[in-house]
Amino acid sequence: MVEKSIKDKREVVRDLLKKLMIKMPENPVAVPQHVRGFGTIIINTEECLSCGACLHICISQAMSIERIFDMETLRKQASNPHYQNRLILLRFIEKLGNVSNETRFNVPAGLICFGKHQLNLKDCVFCEDCIEICPFKAITSERLLDLKEYLD
Ligand code: SF4
Ligand code: SF4
Repeated sequence: MVEKSIKDKREVVRDLLKKLMIKMPENPVAVPQHVRGFGTIIINTEECLSCGACLHICISQAMSIERIFDMETLRKQASNPHYQNRLILLRFIEKLGNVSNETRFNVPAGLICFGKHQLNLKDCVFCEDCIEICPFKAITSERLLDLKEYLD
């Protein structure tokens, strides 16, 4: 399987860089066009509705959704005209009392499409399948790699 072999190669490169103990650059480095398997996937939390489609397509299990939510994200998503359910929930919570942007809450069992999207850069083989599958165009990519995060 192609992605599996890319994953193996990534591990080899990772181990090699660690053994060489090169001082890693502070800023992300550009990934040459011909190099496969490296890059950065970006989840736009304002657009992501935590539908889970990208989790299911990801061959590397690099993605997860934490069952927590915060008011800052909810407020950003509620300003998106496509996500009316967020606006209704925001209005409801605001009626309950004062809540700050930092307020976080656990997503109740049974409530789907809420949560905090997480990506583990170390496991991602940059196949970009998640970008294709996302129905809300919430995922983008760039041909940059943060070596410090990757080797951490
Ligand atoms: S497919 Fe898109 S909307 Fe669904 S969880 Fe992934 S990033 Fe979010
Ligand atoms: S690009 Fe997306 S689908 Fe592919 S390994 Fe990375 S997170 Fe998973």
